[in-house]
Amino acid sequence: MSKWAYDKGLQEIGPGAYAYLQPDGSWGWNNAGLITDEDQSLLIDTLFGLKLTGEMLAVMADAVPAAKNIDFLVNTHNDADHIFGNQLVKGAHILASKAAADEFLNVTPEDYRKIFGNWQELGAGAHYIHENCALTVEDAAGVIVTLPHETFVKEKRLKVGNKNVVLAAVGPAHSSGDVLVHSVEDRVVYTGDLLFNKSYPVLWEGSIEGWIAACDHILSLDVDVVMPGHGPIADKSSVTEFRTFMVRFQEETRRRFEAGLSIMDTALEIAELPDLPDWDLPERIIGAVNFLYRQYGSPEATANFLEIYGLFDRFLDKRAARAAAGHSGCGHSH
Ligand SMILES: [Zn+2]
Ligand SMILES: [Zn+2]
Repeated sequence: MSKWAYDKGLQEIGPGAYAYLQPDGSWGWNNAGLITDEDQSLLIDTLFGLKLTGEMLAVMADAVPAAKNIDFLVNTHNDADHIFGNQLVKGAHILASKAAADEFLNVTPEDYRKIFGNWQELGAGAHYIHENCALTVEDAAGVIVTLPHETFVKEKRLKVGNKNVVLAAVGPAHSSGDVLVHSVEDRVVYTGDLLFNKSYPVLWEGSIEGWIAACDHILSLDVDVVMPGHGPIADKSSVTEFRTFMVRFQEETRRRFEAGLSIMDTALEIAELPDLPDWDLPERIIGAVNFLYRQYGSPEATANFLEIYGLFDRFLDKRAARAAAGHSGCGHSH
């Protein structure tokens, strides 16, 4: 049992360091963070859209005087759930890695409005999103992608009041430009989506080797609290568990690719390994298998965002059919 509750809203995780949580942490429901000292404040990530972000900023301003005016905003990477509220953080100096900033406009609010609004016409991927993501057209309404004011390539050091904050660009990993935010005196690191706590990771760009190295970077820091991009507040033990999975996942996938298995069969077999972690959203395994197959040069792999969501839909159907047929991962077909 973790000492931290996994409840919606703001929690203090160090003196003047906060987590803002959005259970259940699934598609689009990310966590944000806040570091304050004296009258200064740094916000880590916004949320998907104006409604969620506006609510969060009001909660922070009510609870923490220094959050009434946010001085710095750091976007850990360019995914919509982490940047689509930037325009509401008025007056803040916005920072991100150069690699993330270059991709802020890759998937626009208009793209999401189309998927949420016209999912019936857009195939299996949009069907999966409709069924599994609680966000709607209204969440994407009015969003104007607001770019960073300053970018950095490797590292940027800031002072928030008297606190030292180190921003480390450790991507490509989950995305091209992932950033870790280390609040040194608070002994807290905010990881963005370099840690999915209690769910399978989204890996469809970036680099699995880079992600494993990013885990090592987190483990090398002198911290007590690890604040994930999605899921409950964690510590280093969750990072170790996650790293162990990623190393194993890479080996299991490579072996099946070399044996000539399809993306679907590889994903189904890995999902049925008896000692795999009991995490949410196992369909993300096929997205990650597809990504590695693409790197291995498999012509079967896709780079199309909606087609990858379509794989999740098919994976869930196939897995349900296998379960109904009594397949238990025993290595032979029935
Ligand atoms: Zn995220
Ligand atoms: Zn992400």
